[in-house]
Amino acid sequence: MGLFNEIKSCELCKGIKGYKNYPVPTYVGKRYNEKRIFIIGQNPGKNYNILNDIKNTKSEEEFYSLFKKFLNNGNWKILNNWNWVKKGLKLDFDQIAFTDLYKCPCEEKNEKSRNKMKDNCARFLLREIEILDPKILITIGSQAREFIIKNKNLSSNKKIYHFRHTSRFNPLNEWHTIHNIQL
Ligand SMILES: [Zn+2]
Repeated sequence: MGLFNEIKSCELCKGIKGYKNYPVPTYVGKRYNEKRIFIIGQNPGKNYNILNDIKNTKSEEEFYSLFKKFLNNGNWKILNNWNWVKKGLKLDFDQIAFTDLYKCPCEEKNEKSRNKMKDNCARFLLREIEILDPKILITIGSQAREFIIKNKNLSSNKKIYHFRHTSRFNPLNEWHTIHNIQL
């Protein structure tokens, strides 16, 4: 995906208060085309303990193995909850694509900063959805949900499921939704 380098070298958010220069590219599983399921979170949070490593990756391949390891066993707050992919959907991480609405980490809880970032980063998401042409979109958190709902043209011919943000995401509460997902 040519967007890999574009995202990694993107500097649009530079200068925004609280911005950290570690844009995180999108993870696209090698067997993504089998199910075409695209999961969209909110932003690379403080639990992304591999931001430095991501910045240092030289190729998409390197990023891919790094991020897959992160999904499998990274020190991630929602790590345990990612069981829903394996146990709920019975999918391997090779079979999903995953990204965030905001590609850039930002410590600032300032909504102005956030909104500026969203304009910058979301342009990638729009192109990704076009390129990946998912059958199923899963949004995690209200910001990703609103973005998808607002861009109605994105959602035609797609099944869309919404989960709560990871800080509140409890697979037990979402189990019903998860079981309704038809792959
Ligand atoms: Zn950005």
